[in-house]
Amino acid sequence: MYPRLVMNMTKLRANIDAVAKITKEGGKCDSLMIVTKSLCADPVVSRMIAEHPMVDFMADSRVSNIAKFNEMAHENLKETVLLRIPMHCEVADVIKYVDLSFNSELSTLRLLNEEAAKAGKVHKVLLMIDMGDLREGIFFKNEDTIMNTVAEVLGMSNIELYGVGVNLTCYGAIIPKADNLGGLVAIARKIEEKFGIKLKMVSGGNSSSIYLAEKKELPEGITNLRLGESFLLGNDTAYLTKLPGTVDDALILEAQIVELKEKPSLPIGEVGVDAFGEKPEYEDRGIIKRAIIAVGKQDTDLGGMIPLDPKVDILGGSSDHTILDVTKSDKEYKVGDVVSFKLEYGAVLKLATSPYVEKVYVK
Ligand SMILES: *Cc1c(COP(=O)(O)O)cnc(C)c1O
Repeated sequence: MYPRLVMNMTKLRANIDAVAKITKEGGKCDSLMIVTKSLCADPVVSRMIAEHPMVDFMADSRVSNIAKFNEMAHENLKETVLLRIPMHCEVADVIKYVDLSFNSELSTLRLLNEEAAKAGKVHKVLLMIDMGDLREGIFFKNEDTIMNTVAEVLGMSNIELYGVGVNLTCYGAIIPKADNLGGLVAIARKIEEKFGIKLKMVSGGNSSSIYLAEKKELPEGITNLRLGESFLLGNDTAYLTKLPGTVDDALILEAQIVELKEKPSLPIGEVGVDAFGEKPEYEDRGIIKRAIIAVGKQDTDLGGMIPLDPKVDILGGSSDHTILDVTKSDKEYKVGDVVSFKLEYGAVLKLATSPYVEKVYVK
């Protein structure tokens, strides 16, 4: 069935090989988290990640996805990581399914400690420090808050302070550099000195930090990266460069043509708003050959689709339809043909999440 998201397992595995090598050799990190959230912790891909010898942790933002890893009952199952700061309402599930969670709120840490005590477990936490991107974490300038939080966490019977971490290039689009990552390392060293402890992990960010590892410029003291997009699509997300040893076509969308007609490129009549309440602009290309494929905004992000046929243009679409200009293509398209696309992150996320999109694996 179409539309379908085709996942090439050999290419995905090779991409993990490449990003792991960059992280551990170039970046001198001692551990790597592979992030499964954008594929909704797809079971086949998750199993491949679980079996990969260079991956140390499997990380996701949703506890329900992490619960799926636990069900895999796999002998090589990695430690599991919850990337999103936990909700109070999910604390019991966090203790049940997650080995290491990211935290920034004492009220939540107290609840985690209580639940862990009830379950007879010791739960690991990474304290998130906000180095300027202004999403999660204790603000780096509030050193007293950082130290007071550490002091209370160290007194919790069933919580282990595993380390500190930062997230960048998400809300504030701030690029990881020597100053902000170096600042995180400095905070880690201060915590260690003040409390006479050794932190096991200083996690230096997501796919926007891997460019530093590749240039061998990841600040010393960063011991871990958390990679999602870079292994799926083969790029760093700070400067969008292609990472050596990766491919960008491990994930492909295939959709089927349901209508193919010659029509004008300019709509006829008074222009109001489109199906999403927006006023679109249309380019006059004269009479063109227009193919409608059966995939739309309910399934994916039209702006994140790149046709494999370079002579096909995406004109636009609505919830269930995408309209292509196939006039210039060397291929004589007909109704029933399948058109393929490479993908960007937002498009992958929606395709993986849509129940209308078939998931297909090729070796
Ligand atoms: C999503 C996420 C990641 C992975 O981000 P990519 O850009 O896909 O590598 C890492 N850390 C946190 C906290 C995240 O939320």
